[in-house]
Amino acid sequence: MKKIGFIGLGIMGKPMAKNLMKAGYELKVYDIVTPAVDELVAAGAARGESNADVAKDSELVITMLPNSPHVKKAVLGENGVLDGAKPGTIIVDMSSINPIASQEVCAEAEKKGCFMLDAPVSGGEPKAIDGTLAIMVGGKQDVFDKVKDILAVMGSTVTLCGDIGAGNTTKLANQVIVAANIAAVSEALVLGKKAGVKPEAIYQAIRSGLAGSTVMDAKAPMMMDGNFKPGFRINLHIKDLNNALDTGHDVGAPLPLTAAVMEMMQWLKANGHETEDHSSLVRYYENLANTDVRK
Ligand code: NAD
Repeated sequence: MKKIGFIGLGIMGKPMAKNLMKAGYELKVYDIVTPAVDELVAAGAARGESNADVAKDSELVITMLPNSPHVKKAVLGENGVLDGAKPGTIIVDMSSINPIASQEVCAEAEKKGCFMLDAPVSGGEPKAIDGTLAIMVGGKQDVFDKVKDILAVMGSTVTLCGDIGAGNTTKLANQVIVAANIAAVSEALVLGKKAGVKPEAIYQAIRSGLAGSTVMDAKAPMMMDGNFKPGFRINLHIKDLNNALDTGHDVGAPLPLTAAVMEMMQWLKANGHETEDHSSLVRYYENLANTDVRK
């Protein structure tokens, strides 16, 4: 499988597509934003005129789009992937979307004789550039076996988690844990500050104990530096928590912690912080306690 179509050349899609080209795959690319396509064409990709046009020439089509409605439009919509794809084409959607939407899109793809995996990622732009993303996959084992070496170009781990939708369910679990962890770190650092202990001292003292976490190591220093350059934006995390809450409601899993953090993120959005890194959630606690945790 040498010919790959790549759709969605944003923060994540662009470096992922470039890594596939570096590994020797022939790419045809499309995005509704033309300069993104121009950049990839300058790097050696073929220019797609539409999502259907990309699919027409590809054995494998990868999509990396914002959310469920974008994936439905790009795959199922007019001049979408399924308008161009030949039977047997494999679609791998690497966007973080609602797992139920993944199942719906897959069902439509199968009606056309195509196959689909959902394969969202964790790691953000730096790991997309390095090709070291964690990739969580849902779908059939035989389809997974055909593309896993290609996915491994973009990620350091590629894990089949279950049938279609399982990748996105796993990604939602990841986002629930990260959100609650950021909120807990924020709450704890503000408590320390108000009680007269330096947040930096608290962080250094506890980071290698049970409370320590990858999230704490990544986000506590950003909170204390007041550096909220994304990283992962509040508005994307709101999108993921929305998908988690919808999915939880659909399957009968109450998510009280997620709901609480969602409302904190809504406060950030209402106060103009939605394009900041999600570590800016500390601002919510700082505002409640009328303090800050800066060094
Ligand atoms: P982005 O907004 O930078 O890129 C999305 C791209 O999709 C844009 O270039 C947009 O023009 C294009 N697009 C939208 N609709 C289209 C359509 N119908 N046809 C063709 N192109 C279309 O988003 P991103 O940061 O690259 O994120 C992509 C996905 O990866 C999201 O689901 C996000 O949650 C997930 N993700 C992002 C990060 C991160 O740190 N940015 C980390 C992990 C996962």
